[in-house]
Amino acid sequence: MPKLIIIGMDGASPDLMLPWMEQGMLPNFCRIRQNGAFGRLNSVPNQRSAAAWSSFITGLNPGSHGIFEFYERVPGSHDIRFSRAASRDGISFWKYLSENNKTAIVVNVPMTYPAEEIRGCFISGLDAPGKNSPGFTFPAGLLQEIEREAGDYIQEPGVTSLVMADRTEEALKRVIESVRQRGKAVRYLMSRYDWDTVVAVFRETDPAQHCFWRYMGDGDSMFENAIAKVYQEVDREVGEILSAAGDEYRVMVMSDHGFGFRQHGNGCLNQWLHEAGFLKFRKVNNAVSVPGVLRRSYQFLEKFVPRRFKERLFRLVPGLISKVHSRVFFSAIDWDNTIAYADNIMPVIWINTADTGSAGRIRREEYWDVVSKLKSALLEKCLEADTMRKVVEWVKHREETYAGPHVEKAPDLLIRWKESEKISGLCYGTDGIPLHPQYPTREFTVISGDHRPAGVFMAAGDGIKKNIEIHGLNLVDVPATAIYLNRLPVPEYMEGKVPEDLFEDQILASNPLQTDRRKFVSDKAQASEYTPEEESDLRDRLRGLGYLE
Ligand SMILES: [Zn+2]
Repeated sequence: MPKLIIIGMDGASPDLMLPWMEQGMLPNFCRIRQNGAFGRLNSVPNQRSAAAWSSFITGLNPGSHGIFEFYERVPGSHDIRFSRAASRDGISFWKYLSENNKTAIVVNVPMTYPAEEIRGCFISGLDAPGKNSPGFTFPAGLLQEIEREAGDYIQEPGVTSLVMADRTEEALKRVIESVRQRGKAVRYLMSRYDWDTVVAVFRETDPAQHCFWRYMGDGDSMFENAIAKVYQEVDREVGEILSAAGDEYRVMVMSDHGFGFRQHGNGCLNQWLHEAGFLKFRKVNNAVSVPGVLRRSYQFLEKFVPRRFKERLFRLVPGLISKVHSRVFFSAIDWDNTIAYADNIMPVIWINTADTGSAGRIRREEYWDVVSKLKSALLEKCLEADTMRKVVEWVKHREETYAGPHVEKAPDLLIRWKESEKISGLCYGTDGIPLHPQYPTREFTVISGDHRPAGVFMAAGDGIKKNIEIHGLNLVDVPATAIYLNRLPVPEYMEGKVPEDLFEDQILASNPLQTDRRKFVSDKAQASEYTPEEESDLRDRLRGLGYLE
């Protein structure tokens, strides 16, 4: 049976790859495309990496696996905390393979800390606190072995921090080095350990696109081709990985979401909600301005939030700081008189319901009325600040977007901006004042690229049709296909489908689709990332300065 290699590229965009393949810039990807299938891969509705990779891992939608972002709201409060892979519901497809006596090598998939004990070996991803953290690899000691044999292993290249420090050239070098080292580590593991399936994720494409998007097409910039260089480097490493795999293998290439220019709608949502009458700001020290509050809060964060904590936040949410920061954003909100609020980072809206314990809460009987008012305001009166064009493609309640036992963890509303609109700011209706994001510091502005809904999918190898385009694929179809290609029945509760039009008839005849009748059992309670001591230390420090209620 041919082995299977799955290459993940965080945020890789089909809209970039197609022309670059045609121009001969990505010869290895081009070969895969010509010898196989190419298509767009629908991400999860919110296009966030933590949610998307968790769907790739489990074959479930975020409402079932319960991970919507790298952070989550603490139930019953306005507080936030890191999401943990350990609180993810469902089982990973490599665990399923392992239970069925298949071996796997898993490298650098986001939301996989601590490493899973499977048949094979495992290096966890960027959600691990650090590469020397206990449980970073399985078996333990694997990192030392890799570093001995293949050199320094770079968990995450830290692009955003370098760019913020005006070390942009170094950032690009580091990202390329990170791709090379990742490739080396993967090849080392493939040569040293048994495997039926390899899953290796190159994360580097995501931070590179976040930081270097602004330079694309800028002939005057030395970074004009920075993103292309990173793709080319991944292409080269993929070529090497495939040649190390011998003759008989199948390969799938996928990304968790696509990419495009950054739109600045999210950063104005609270101001927009204020203009629309859904949110009130608190008067601080005789009406200090909102930007003033943000700036002071930021300075406070700089001073008091531990470095280790901040570094992790920057890694997980490049440049956009974190939910801890949005705790600071929240400090400007008058909860007693607020109906709905955003975190100014993501295109989501929370309704200030009774379960947050606020006096201005929305009662159960008012809830759906608020939902429909918000929806129509967003659709009709959320305009781009300069062009006055409507910029909301759709707005959906969480129950229209997700299904499963964890739906309630999602923000109440999810907004999809119109993909092609350049959004510099928002306006509430045609008579409104233009609202621009109030970014207190540089890390909010170095980011020039952002996620888009369509990722990439390619597949080639024995039994896969050649030179075809494939349509309508979803992220959850990839794990189902991986299981099928290991000649195992796909668990019934997994939401993905094996795309039959990807395969030659004789493969479907010799390896008919089978279903494993096991049911989905939700067995994960919500759990906190930090020890209670750490959480309460942080909260006390924030509260001590009067920024949190
Ligand atoms: Zn990203």
